Amino acid sequence: MTARRLRALLIAPPGAGKGTQAKAIAAHFGVPHISTGDVFRREVDAGTDLGKEVSGYLVRGDLVPDPIVGDIVWRAVQEAVAETGGYLLDGFPRTRAQAEVAYEVAKERGLTADAVVTFDVRREVLMGRLLHRGEGRPDDDETTIRHRLDVYDAQTAPVLEYYVGRGILVRVDADRPIEDVTAAAIAALEGRAP
Ligand code: AMP
Repeated sequence: MTARRLRALLIAPPGAGKGTQAKAIAAHFGVPHISTGDVFRREVDAGTDLGKEVSGYLVRGDLVPDPIVGDIVWRAVQEAVAETGGYLLDGFPRTRAQAEVAYEVAKERGLTADAVVTFDVRREVLMGRLLHRGEGRPDDDETTIRHRLDVYDAQTAPVLEYYVGRGILVRVDADRPIEDVTAAAIAALEGRAP
């Protein structure tokens, strides 16, 4: 295994720029970017059994059940750590249960996160961005966007408190130009990378 590198989680609402920022941050720290949403979309596109199992959740904007997510994440995190010593997880955890189980498993294996980054953006701004982003995602129609934002507020936003409690949450104002958000996130993480 190579030297220990940054191990971080990125938790942010739909439309906050999570995917774009995660790629830039991961490249800066030289760690793999693991997006659970991307993994699921690839499986759906490839028509695999897993893809068939999760496609309904993705189309509706609902969360995929925890046991399915857990398997995907552990495989990817272990590979990432074996390869580079670190990881940047994008879109995981999405529920308090995912966060708590992940911590127990990560602790046993010596893989716990050094930091959790979240992006603060007002809901009206998120709605506007999602309606106009034109990536052709099937979950980007107005009704599903509203539902995904509600799911985030109800199930994912409370997870942030859990990380405040562990003292590893970093909040970044993401209602500003992409490069400024990247720079702020990297600066905050530099202080927490081993
Ligand atoms: P994202 O690309 O992060 O917006 O995720 C797209 C979709 O993938 C979500 O709306 C969920 O259906 C599913 N998904 C991604 N990550 C998770 C997760 N950690 N837990 C449950 N579902 C997830």
